[in-house]
Amino acid sequence: MQTKILLPEDRIPKQWYNIIPDMPGPLAPVIHPGTLQPVTPDDLLPIFPMALIEQEVSTQRWIEIPEPVREIYRLWRPAPLYRAHRLEKALGTPARIYYKYEGGSPAGSHKPNTAIPQAYYNKAAGTRRIATETGAGQWGTSMALACQMFGLECTVYMVKVSFGQKPYRKSMMELWGAEVLPSPSNRTNAGRAILARDPQNQGSLGIAISEAVEDAATRDDTRYALGSVLNHVCLHQTVIGLEAKEQMALVGDYPDVVIGCHGGGSNFAGIGFPFVADKANGKQVRIVAVEPTSCPTLTKGVYAFDYGDTAKMAPIAKMYTLGHDFMPPGIHAGGLRYHGASPLVSQLVHAGVVEAKAVAQTACFEAAILFARTEAIIPAPESSHAIRGAIEEALQAKEEGKERTILFNLSGHGHVDMAAYDAYFSGQLEDFEYPAEAIKESLAHLPKVTF
Ligand SMILES: *Cc1c(COP(=O)(O)O)cnc(C)c1O
Repeated sequence: MQTKILLPEDRIPKQWYNIIPDMPGPLAPVIHPGTLQPVTPDDLLPIFPMALIEQEVSTQRWIEIPEPVREIYRLWRPAPLYRAHRLEKALGTPARIYYKYEGGSPAGSHKPNTAIPQAYYNKAAGTRRIATETGAGQWGTSMALACQMFGLECTVYMVKVSFGQKPYRKSMMELWGAEVLPSPSNRTNAGRAILARDPQNQGSLGIAISEAVEDAATRDDTRYALGSVLNHVCLHQTVIGLEAKEQMALVGDYPDVVIGCHGGGSNFAGIGFPFVADKANGKQVRIVAVEPTSCPTLTKGVYAFDYGDTAKMAPIAKMYTLGHDFMPPGIHAGGLRYHGASPLVSQLVHAGVVEAKAVAQTACFEAAILFARTEAIIPAPESSHAIRGAIEEALQAKEEGKERTILFNLSGHGHVDMAAYDAYFSGQLEDFEYPAEAIKESLAHLPKVTF
């Protein structure tokens, strides 16, 4: 009864899988927030190095992973694939459940898979300093780590509510050499404007993005890095699904359903996109994104052009959105509180190639606790959405008396997020139904773009 399915280090993928040539139809253009015209590479150069801008629009199906990036990947990759024997038994399901575990990275999540190449390409382009934002702190820790590996300075704008809730993530960033500021901060025009209107503002990912983009755009030595949503981020994360596919082949299995939790879409893209390629070639496989009911971008948002950030400084993209000024409630899965979604994932959902569903916070914690008590790993609150999705599939298989092979991505562990579990055990965790009125209000403010 094999439990861990492992690959040797020389099986770390040598190329990332770029889904762009396999998309159902052309990509919508990305729009400049000032001119409302399609952005050009020159518009993006103050913010990103050319190599990443090229990856953003590349039509090459396979993109080589630079050797210095693979060398750092070796610290935790290939990541193990587990067969969840004990969870299956507890559920009494005929389904076979596999999970890819991305919590073994130094930062404890999938995010270093893209932080490392982003730091590498910046270093190669002469960048000295990175400005970025972080919600719950996982991206900030990953970028701090990556900057440390490549000798870059790093400033992180951390959403203020998380700055208070998750102090140890701040310690991790500082340990890896980064400067951490609660956002909204006094460091930027965007931050100062919000504080002038609302001194108690607890921040949001959209506000923090505005601050980091402004910081990068106004300093010659500094560029910006984003931890999700963008095409190049989804590209880098495909190491997850590429490895998983090979690991499943080692035990002679293939998933009927592939599941990932969905915040901005990157870990979902990572596990899912390599299987979308198979689906395009006629394989029967369902690919499901699971999001919180409190921030239901894919299931209750609209597919439209919207700003990537609150201050309307970041480019406008066609994506599922709840509106750029939507303020999601302070739920514990902080990594899933973004108003928008990856344009690639959005287009796939819109075309019906991938499915989306929303689950409530307490149901996710129940799933996380069952998982920790059977499989032993303590999941990140974000990852618990994928676990919930997998358990629902397994229980459905049981009800139908059918076999089913389920693969999900366990995007990270919850070791630095135990306050979320404390809140659950002390009965303080509530479910938030999606605030329909708030979404309606925000959707009235979408930019008028017609491309
Ligand atoms: C950031 C994060 C997520 C959500 O981000 P995506 O870009 O949607 O993947 C999910 N799980 C963990 C552990 C995270 O840190």
